[in-house]
Amino acid sequence: MRICREISRWITENVQQPVENWVNREERRCREEPCNWWCLCCNKWFCWIVVVAVLVVTWIIVTITKLITEVVCTIVGLVLDLVGFVINLILSIPIIGGILRTIINWITEIVWRIIGLPDFIASLAGIRPLKKMYVKLIILNRDGRPHTNEATAIRGIRTAQNIFRTQCNVNLIYTGVCIPKLNTPDDANNVDCGAGGFFSDWWIAGSYYELVSADCAFEDGLKRVLGYGSELIVFVVENINPAATVGCSFAATHNYVVVEPNLTGIQSIAHEIGHSCLMPHIDDDRNNLMFPTINVDGTTGELVNFAMSNLQIATLRGSRHCVYI
Ligand SMILES: [Zn+2]
Repeated sequence: MRICREISRWITENVQQPVENWVNREERRCREEPCNWWCLCCNKWFCWIVVVAVLVVTWIIVTITKLITEVVCTIVGLVLDLVGFVINLILSIPIIGGILRTIINWITEIVWRIIGLPDFIASLAGIRPLKKMYVKLIILNRDGRPHTNEATAIRGIRTAQNIFRTQCNVNLIYTGVCIPKLNTPDDANNVDCGAGGFFSDWWIAGSYYELVSADCAFEDGLKRVLGYGSELIVFVVENINPAATVGCSFAATHNYVVVEPNLTGIQSIAHEIGHSCLMPHIDDDRNNLMFPTINVDGTTGELVNFAMSNLQIATLRGSRHCVYI
């Protein structure tokens, strides 16, 4: 679990290393200290004894604390992961699972929005301490052949990282790629982005996404249920309808977005993550990240819709996916 690694790192940085520095300093001092001959160098021994005692005691404390943290963390983590996995399996049952997912996702979204209200207001006012979001890539396939490779798809993640880092002070952490070996069912490869998409999520496609997520993002299972800090999953699918659409997200209904392989390299991932964080389209500003279509600068040929308004920044930062710890 992430938290376990962080506790262990904290102990190393804040206990182990300072003590080691102190021991090194003291050791030098002991060595350089002149000997008091009248008591057979007792001052030097004493100095050494203190250093060794501190070293031994800290070593014991640090080792035991780390061991306990690791054991407790591993057991608790495993139980939580299993609980999450079982819940996720239930949630992958067609229709019932789909309806449950929709309800859970919207409830957690609303609850975390309410809890995060002060932070949302602070973000609006420009107070924006560093927050984190997690994103994973899952590349689906046609008859076993992946739609793209990580090197191509990751460009979209990098673009999103840049946009959110520079404008929102949000660190979008990429947790890796997953390329399932099983042949992707047609329903999951061809996504309808209209109202039909909402319901197809309750059927084969949604169940398949949930199942693949439960497997690919096993470690994050319970977080996905509780919503807080849950990883966003970017599915690279074969085709999204209507034809002009290159990416799709159903706001807080899902923990995932879908994108087409040919356009994963640009800002569609950032745009879809924006939708997942409840950002609607902005139709009157071609430079805005939430402008519905991709906008290319006439002279440079570069993509230009990256801008985010104050309200959009606060909306992203107020999402359940965007957290401090
Ligand atoms: Zn859109």
